[in-house]
Amino acid sequence: MASDSCARVRFAPSPTGKLHIGGARTAIYNWAFARSMGGTFILRIDDTDPTRSTDENTRVILRAMRWLGLDWDEGPDVGGVCGPYRQTECLPLYREAAERLVAEGKAYYCFCSAEKLSQDHDAAVARKDPFQGYQRTCRALDPCDARARVDAGEPCTIRIKVPLDRGDVVVHDAVHGDVAFNAKELDDFIIFRSDGTPTYNFATVVDDARMGITHVIRGDDHLSNTPRQIMVYEALGAPAPTFAHISMILGADGKKLSKRHGATSVEEYRDQGFLSDAFVNYLALLGWSLDGETTIIPRAVLASRFSLEHVSKNPAIMDPEKLSWVQQQYVLAMDDTTFVTDILKPALAAAGLDDGSMHDDAWYALLAAILKPRTTMPHDAADKACFLYEGVEVALDEKSVAKNIAKEGVRSWLEAARDALAAVADDTWKADAINAALEPLPEVLGTGKRRFFGAVRVALCGNQVSPPLGESMELLGKDIVLARLERTLPLAG
Ligand code: GLU
Repeated sequence: MASDSCARVRFAPSPTGKLHIGGARTAIYNWAFARSMGGTFILRIDDTDPTRSTDENTRVILRAMRWLGLDWDEGPDVGGVCGPYRQTECLPLYREAAERLVAEGKAYYCFCSAEKLSQDHDAAVARKDPFQGYQRTCRALDPCDARARVDAGEPCTIRIKVPLDRGDVVVHDAVHGDVAFNAKELDDFIIFRSDGTPTYNFATVVDDARMGITHVIRGDDHLSNTPRQIMVYEALGAPAPTFAHISMILGADGKKLSKRHGATSVEEYRDQGFLSDAFVNYLALLGWSLDGETTIIPRAVLASRFSLEHVSKNPAIMDPEKLSWVQQQYVLAMDDTTFVTDILKPALAAAGLDDGSMHDDAWYALLAAILKPRTTMPHDAADKACFLYEGVEVALDEKSVAKNIAKEGVRSWLEAARDALAAVADDTWKADAINAALEPLPEVLGTGKRRFFGAVRVALCGNQVSPPLGESMELLGKDIVLARLERTLPLAG
């Protein structure tokens, strides 16, 4: 943890869709790395693919990043010393860099047509040439002739000159170790298309170099691009950063995560009611661990203790049950007031039960106290609270009635409960007093506690699973409790 660190990292999404779990995890690692190093976290929008990038996607990605709580120090909306932070605003920079490489003899214009390239490829295949990439036809052109053809308007691409004697290109990856690629296998690949747009491998390196990026942390689907990017660094005369390629996230079936596995975009999880802190905690653990065992890692700990050494190179498996468990831990750790404002009231409102003003603060606080331990997702709270909002005619679950109420003798129990509760003074209508009033009845009536309270519970809550009975009755209020007991008498045996 060096506060004077000059670590500079970037998250560079392409706005071709929403922010997905994999991208979010990459963003979290970059953010946590920057924070733990006292460095700078940059957000850059890689929108050079004009057919698939949209401003709307950019807006949605930024919104998802904010929900995740991953604040960036430089980026398209906050600015910074290395702007622009949108690649479409940098086209002249890429053009200039490519032209400079051409002028220095490190890149060249290529006039090969698509047909020519495909004929060359077929010929290489036919003669069983181990190298079937671009045959470097235009590398031999006289630069002045090439320039004249460009000036005359002939369509061309710009290709990088991979030095023929380069030998292996070794990626010193912080996660995968050294990975060697044979430079002979690398094409003189295109850095500028004939339509005047830069390719990903070129634009990324021009930006990473000019932004002083020290560590590139990204998905390992980009590992095979890295030797080409190293070639660009070398041509530009810029130092290559440290690379850290993180594993893919897979579904439980071992296949790449997709819609088939459930929600994939960050905002779908937000909309389901996941807490941002819990979600970030869970995603951080998909491929990284603090010490091999700690599972609850608050954001502040992540921001101070993250390190690339503990990033695994094995694919991570998305486990919705574990995510729910982490969420539950964060809900349990919430104080009741936060639970009321952030989970309970929004859930009641979303379920159309309560706009948040139907009761006083003490009522919501009591409800929070009994529901918090029973809530993972906000809808759990609404589901468990809805019996409180059904007036006298609470929906009665038929099976529960058959099992607990429509039995010989139950009518007398419900009458006894009604009478004992009627005797509780209005101003002492609290869970303790309510429990104290009912407690002696099973013995007096000569029945078991479980059966007695089971019948009362179904009469009051409609089914056999409800939050604690005393508190539930306090919340229902005396009048409703008495009326619900009265209403079930005709059903009792
Ligand atoms: N825009 C690229 C992507 O979204 C960035 C890859 C990189 O980090 O270099 O995959």
